[in-house]
Amino acid sequence: MMSIDSLFRVALPLPLPRGFDYLPPADHSPSAADVGKRVRVPFGAREMIGVVVAIAARGDGMPELRQVLAVLDETQLLHGELLESLRWLSRYTHAPLGEVLGTALPTLLRQGEPLPDTHAWAWRLTADGIQGWPRLRKGTRPRRLAEWLLASPIDASSHHQRDEDALDLHLDDWRSAARALDKRGLVERVAIPASTVAPDPQPGPPLNPQQRTAVEAILGTQGFAPLLLDGVTGSGKTEVYLHAIADCLRRGKQALVLVPEIGLTPQTLARFRQRLGVPVLALHSGLSDNERARGWAAFARGEARVAVGTRSAVFTPLPQAGLIIVDEEHDASYKQQDGMRYHARDFALVRGKALDVPVLLGSATPSLESLHNANSGRYAHLRLNQRAGDAKPPSVRVQDVRKRSLEAGLSADTLAAISTALDADGQVLVFKNRRGYASVLLCHDCGWSAQCKRCDSPMTVHGAGRRLQCHHCGARQAVPPACPDCGGLALQPQGIGTERIEEMLTEKFTGVPVLRIDRSTTQRRDALAGHLQKLGDHPGILVGTQILAKGHDLPHLTLVVVVGVDEGLFSSDFRAGEKLAQQLIQVAGRAGRAQKPGQVWLQTHHPDHPLLNTLINGGYHAFAASELEQRRAAGFPPFAHLALLRAEAKQVDAANAFLHAAKSAFTNSIRDAARLESGTSRSGQQSALEIQGPLPAPMSRRAGMHRTQLLLSSPSRRALHALLDTALPAIHDLPEARKVRWSLDVDPLDLY
Ligand code: ADP
Ligand code: ZN
Ligand code: ZN
Repeated sequence: MMSIDSLFRVALPLPLPRGFDYLPPADHSPSAADVGKRVRVPFGAREMIGVVVAIAARGDGMPELRQVLAVLDETQLLHGELLESLRWLSRYTHAPLGEVLGTALPTLLRQGEPLPDTHAWAWRLTADGIQGWPRLRKGTRPRRLAEWLLASPIDASSHHQRDEDALDLHLDDWRSAARALDKRGLVERVAIPASTVAPDPQPGPPLNPQQRTAVEAILGTQGFAPLLLDGVTGSGKTEVYLHAIADCLRRGKQALVLVPEIGLTPQTLARFRQRLGVPVLALHSGLSDNERARGWAAFARGEARVAVGTRSAVFTPLPQAGLIIVDEEHDASYKQQDGMRYHARDFALVRGKALDVPVLLGSATPSLESLHNANSGRYAHLRLNQRAGDAKPPSVRVQDVRKRSLEAGLSADTLAAISTALDADGQVLVFKNRRGYASVLLCHDCGWSAQCKRCDSPMTVHGAGRRLQCHHCGARQAVPPACPDCGGLALQPQGIGTERIEEMLTEKFTGVPVLRIDRSTTQRRDALAGHLQKLGDHPGILVGTQILAKGHDLPHLTLVVVVGVDEGLFSSDFRAGEKLAQQLIQVAGRAGRAQKPGQVWLQTHHPDHPLLNTLINGGYHAFAASELEQRRAAGFPPFAHLALLRAEAKQVDAANAFLHAAKSAFTNSIRDAARLESGTSRSGQQSALEIQGPLPAPMSRRAGMHRTQLLLSSPSRRALHALLDTALPAIHDLPEARKVRWSLDVDPLDLY
C-alpha cells in the first residue's frame, strides 16, 4: 500500500526532458495501477492532458505542488509491452517521454476523450432518403451509393444497410458521397455489432516451392524472430504474408501489417479482406480522428484481429500479438521526419522482440541495413527470386541519349517504342521523378534564374509555364513577363517535369488517354485508383513520379520508360545511390506483371556509370554488395551510427553559436568519460566518436530560416547513445538554445 504522500509523475507533451510531479486528487490514493492512466493537470495558466508514468514519493523540502484536476481513465490506457516499448523509444530517440506518448496516441485520446465504442458501422437511407433518392442525378457517386444501399440486405428493423467494409470493397470514394448525402439528411450512419461484417474468405493460388519454403520458415519460428523476405517484384510476397497472417488468426492472435504511405491502396485492402475472411482495419492519415481512436480501441480490447496501416500504425496496442509484417521495409516513409523522429520499421522490431513474436520484413529492394543484418545472420534470409505464376521478368534496355535530340526529354527511339506498345494494345508508364512543368526558369540573355526568396532553392515552373512554385515552402507567384534583372524577354523553362512530358505526349498520341499522376494531381488516396479505373484495360499512357512506383498492380502495363535518372547518379547524399537503385528496380517491376511480357527503357547520358552497369548486369544484390563495401570503407551506416543535431534560426550566427556550444558540451562529455575510464581496460571506446560541424545544411535556407547542423558518428551505437545521454541535459539548458529551433535526429535518413 502506497502512502498518502505519494505523487503522480506525469509526462506532458512538451519539449522538456523530464516528468512533472502533481499531488493526487483529494479522494485518490496513488498506486502502481495508476501508471498509464491519463490525467488533466494545471500547467501555468492552462490545463493539459498528460499520462502518469510513475508514482513518486514525496520528499521533504519539495516545492509546493499543484494538484491533478482529474484522473481520466478507470483502467490503465497504456500498460505492459506498449508502455515499456514507448519508454524505450523515448530513450532511443532522446525525445521526452511526453512527446513520444503524444505521438503514439491517437489525437482524441491525446486530448483526453474517453476510449470510444468499437462497433462496426453501417450506412442506410433515412426516411427522407427513401423518398428522395430518385431525384439524385443519375450516374453520380451519391446516386450510386443510394442505389447500392437500397439493394443491400435488410436488418432486423427492416432497414436496408451496408457496412463500411463492404462499401470500401465495392464503391470507390463512397465516403465523400456519404458525407454529401448525410448533410442533406438522406443517409445515416448506424452502429452494428463488429462480428457481423466478416466476409467469406476466398482461397488464393497454390504456393510455388519458394513461397512454401518461406511460409514454413515463418510458421516454424518460436517467439521473436526477425525475417527478411527478399523477393523480386511480383514474386508473391503478399501471398506469403497472407498465409502467415491466416496462421496467426488460426492461433487466435492479432497481426499488424505496416505498408508505405503510397502502398495502402483500396486494392491492397480489398485483397486482404477477401482472402482473410475477417474485418481488416485500415489505419492511415486519411482517417478521421474518430476512426483512428476507434481502431486503436478495437485493438486494445482485442476485438480487431488484423490491421493494415502506415507509419504510425506501429503504435497500435497488440495485447494478443502473433505477427508483425513490414512491407516494402526499405521505404523512406517509415521514418518520421519531424517532431519525434522515429523509424517505424526499427520500432516494429523492438516491439516484436518485447512481444516475443516474429517480425517479417519484406521488399524487392531491401535497405542496406536489413541486407547487412541478413548477411551477418542476425535476420533469417528468405529469398523469392522468380516472379509468381506465369509472369516473366521485364527486359531492360539502356538507351544512350547523348547527342540525341529530345522532345520534352524523350528521344525519337523512345517515342517510337511507346507507339509500338500502344499499337499492341499495351499501356505505357513514363516515369520522371520531378513534378511540375520545369525545374527552373532561366533567362537566356543574362543567366538570371527564378529563386525562392525564402529558400536556398530555385522555384519550379507549373501551370503550363505560367506559375512559379517553391516545393520547399509552398511560395507561389506568376511567371514574370520579362527578366527582372536585364528586362529581356528570353525567359525559358529548363529541366523537364511531369507536366511538360504530359503536354508533349497528349499532343503526340491523340488517340489514347494520357494521365498524369503525381502529388499535384493525386491529393487524395482514392484518386489514383479512380484514374487507373478510367484507364481500365485500354491502351493509354501514365506519366508519373514515384507515386506510381509501388502498390498498384497494373496488369496491362507492357512498357516502362524511365526519363533522366542522371540527377541521382551524382548526388552527394550517401544514400542517393541506394535510393536510385531502389526506385529503378521498383518502377521497372511495374512492367509485365501478368501475362503480357514487359520492357523497360532507361534513358541516360551516362550509360557507362558503374551504378547502372552493376544494377543492370548484376541486379539489385550485386549493386547492394558493392554499395555495402563502399559504405564500410567510408564509415557510413550500417557500419557506423549517426545522430544529427539540427538548428534553425533567422540569424545564421545564432544557429552556429548554439551548435558550437553543443559541440563543446559533447567534447566535454567525451573528455570526462575518457578521464573516468583511463587506467581501465575499457578505455578507447569514446575515441571512436566523431563530430563534424557546425556546417550549413545541404539546403542552407528554408522558409526564411538558416539551417546548420552537427553530425555525430560512431561505429559503436552504445558509445553514441552514452554520449547523447550525458550531454543532452546540458544542451537543453544552454542559453544559446533559446534563440534557435533545434532538434536531434537519431539514425537520420537524410543528412539535411
Ligand atoms: P509481390 O507482393 O511480391 O509484389 P504479389 O503477392 O502481389 O507479389 O503477387 C504478384 C501476382 O502474382 C499477384 O497477381 C498474385 O495473385 C500472383 N501470385 C502470387 N503467388 C502466386 C502463385 N503461387 N501462383 C500464381 N500466381 C501467384
Ligand atoms: Zn535576364
Ligand atoms: Zn521556398
